[in-house]
Amino acid sequence: MDVVKISPRGYCYGVVDAMKLVRQVAENPQAKKPIFVLGLIVHNRHVVEELDRYGVISLDGENRLQLLEQVDEGTVVFTAHGVSQTVRARAQEKGLDVVDATCPDVTKTHDLIRRLADDGYTILYIGRKGHPEPEGAMGEAPDHVQLIETAADVDGLDLAGRKLAVVTQTTLSRWDTEETIHRLKERYPQIEVFNEICLATQLRQDAAVREAANCDVVIVVGDVRSNNSNRLVQVVKEQAGRPAYLVDTVADINPKWLEGKHTVGVTAGSSTPSPITREVVQFLEAYEGAESAASRA
Ligand code: SF4
Repeated sequence: MDVVKISPRGYCYGVVDAMKLVRQVAENPQAKKPIFVLGLIVHNRHVVEELDRYGVISLDGENRLQLLEQVDEGTVVFTAHGVSQTVRARAQEKGLDVVDATCPDVTKTHDLIRRLADDGYTILYIGRKGHPEPEGAMGEAPDHVQLIETAADVDGLDLAGRKLAVVTQTTLSRWDTEETIHRLKERYPQIEVFNEICLATQLRQDAAVREAANCDVVIVVGDVRSNNSNRLVQVVKEQAGRPAYLVDTVADINPKWLEGKHTVGVTAGSSTPSPITREVVQFLEAYEGAESAASRA
């Protein structure tokens, strides 16, 4: 098959730096053991398995405060998704060594939320329920922030006369949030908009939509729990009108998806290790399909 390697794809700077930090602490003989990661360092099981081999314990779960209660000694690593002030304070109270791998783009959103709360704003945070990033961001000013997920959620709000701001999670789709923001502006024209979708997410989505136009089908390599990988599938389907499928590894590719197709695009979420994407690309480049194999026989 013809394979279009969509670029940029795969690891973003936030993930690269977070991985580097965890490896450094794991290799540091002075680091207090055991070493725990509060949540998955990134939403990708291959990465977590690699850390396992370094002796780093990944505590799986989205509620950071609950996870922290499982740790009584050693070092705790905060993931790129960020944590709330309550989690930071609790880690200190417990006397743990802290390694903070929060992505600078997430920290920027935390700073913004604190500033807006101090200025008396009610903040609507567009994000995914149950994802650790909203938990950390909203935890900066819990009395001032409300989570909304979709445009439909706007109808249930009653915020007339308030000083309002809307802030987005870093890994959403621009197209999705535009609809929600539009609905918010219709109801509350005074609302101030802060688009916090990070550059890495935006560039990957833009490239996927642009390149998908030249493809019959697009394969997104990423973990089922990775928000940004799921958003890549979504934007290809909705914005480029092409079929798109999420695969964790090459083994998940269903030959049916490729039937009658000639050009396949490949992209990867910002938490997907490159070797896994490379395997998918190599498999597809060598793929002839049942029809071609039969005609040569
Ligand atoms: Fe940072 Fe964006 Fe990467 Fe998340 S996806 S770690 S916010 S650069």
